[in-house]
Amino acid sequence: MAAGAALMGAPAIVRAARPVEADVVVIGAGAAGLAAARALRAGGRRVVVLEARNRIGGRAHTDTAALGLPFDRGAHWLHSASVNPFLAEARRLGRRTWLSGEDGLTLLRGGRALKDGEAQLEAAMAQLERRVVRRSLLGADFALGQAAGDEMQQVAAEYAAFTLATDRDRLSVQDYGALADGEDHVVEGGFGQLVADLAADVPVRTGHGVQKIDWRASDRVRVSGAFGALDARQVVITVPPPVLARGTIAFDPPLPVLRQAALDALQGGAFIKVGLRLDRPLTEAPEFAFDMDAALRHETTALYVDPRLPLATVIFSGRHARALSTAGPGALTAAGRAALVAMLGSSLRGRITATTVADWTSDPFALGAYSVVKVGQARARQVYGTPIDHRLFFAGDSDGKAYAVTVMGARRSGEAAGRAILARARG
Ligand SMILES: Cc1cc2nc3c(=O)[nH]c(=O)nc-3n(C[C@H](O)[C@H](O)[C@H](O)COP(=O)(O)OP(=O)(O)OC[C@H]3O[C@@H](n4cnc5c(N)ncnc54)[C@H](O)[C@@H]3O)c2cc1C
Repeated sequence: MAAGAALMGAPAIVRAARPVEADVVVIGAGAAGLAAARALRAGGRRVVVLEARNRIGGRAHTDTAALGLPFDRGAHWLHSASVNPFLAEARRLGRRTWLSGEDGLTLLRGGRALKDGEAQLEAAMAQLERRVVRRSLLGADFALGQAAGDEMQQVAAEYAAFTLATDRDRLSVQDYGALADGEDHVVEGGFGQLVADLAADVPVRTGHGVQKIDWRASDRVRVSGAFGALDARQVVITVPPPVLARGTIAFDPPLPVLRQAALDALQGGAFIKVGLRLDRPLTEAPEFAFDMDAALRHETTALYVDPRLPLATVIFSGRHARALSTAGPGALTAAGRAALVAMLGSSLRGRITATTVADWTSDPFALGAYSVVKVGQARARQVYGTPIDHRLFFAGDSDGKAYAVTVMGARRSGEAAGRAILARARG
């Protein structure tokens, strides 16, 4: 027993004698991790970025191989463009950018465009928001769909839920109300490519999946995996919450109960894209279409037609996306083709030349498109983004600071973590 006890104490003593290899280890090279690393390096810190995949960018990823053109498998739109730093940076790099959605949204009913559909949807959304405000005067959280009255309000609720990768009966009104809005732009060459290009100066160790974070010692954190182990003073963790909730990374000691509860409340939403390459651009089609009938049936389906490229993207969200994902990529491809034809007509059938499926729900390093807060637990984002013991910093698009579930939000969260570490070192 005595020998065992001595051995148990040994690692801490050994660690105390060993110099740290980095001031900060950043885990994950998505928008948040890359931004944290850049902020820390600018402040003179020695930073190591560990990334499980064999590429950087995380859920911002432009794939040029699958369809022979730039296809954003994840993020595509530069949201809240007036305050989005990626817009100016894209232009500085000489990339053209375009305002997206100028033609508005086409609502499809029975396969046809509904006259004044967007105006009807906006009016229904305004009514729905008034109903939500009345219901939530006492501060209770509930699902947006519960406040919806008539059919168009149900569609409006489902549309809101679609943009947040969930269903109207699962969208927390408090979380929805806290999210930012604004104009969307798209960038030539893809958003994922832009994120990667802007981080070309950040050294990243790809293929370095972290399996354990040992924060028992008071002056350092040991991060380890199949690659070995690294000691640092602080760690910035940008691994998506559903991946952490699954226990992919073992924490020693375990994370505090409240943090674990926040991780459990931040579930991976489903927003699956089926990319369809066409023989030529569909200049005559609406840029963005939303199928009302499917939405009311909880089979939410939308279509985005690239105005410049021969590319259409069918998007499935929520439980419908999840069911298709369970059925596999073949089912998703077939459903994507069928949705395109149902929405734009049978002449499209012979014009599809290649397809690809971007399913983040089955991606082990994401386990979802972006996080959806469980109804009643909207505070989870704030809890998630709070550092522990000035050594474990959590950043990423799930953080509740601002612009959650976007690339810009992830970047701002990473920068904030970097700044907080620098400020602590100065203080
Ligand atoms: C289909 C889809 C469409 C989207 N559309 C938009 C959009 O149009 N506009 C927008 O702004 N946002 C959009 N988003 C959201 C946006 O992509 C994310 O908010 C943002 O990219 C998240 O960045 P992040 O750094 O927080 O996380 P991630 O990009 O997921 O980065 C986390 C990184 O951690 C890595 N990792 C995981 N586990 C480990 C481990 N054990 N060890 C080491 N590394 C690990 C992952 O591989 C990943 O690279 C979309 C997302 C999806 C999926």
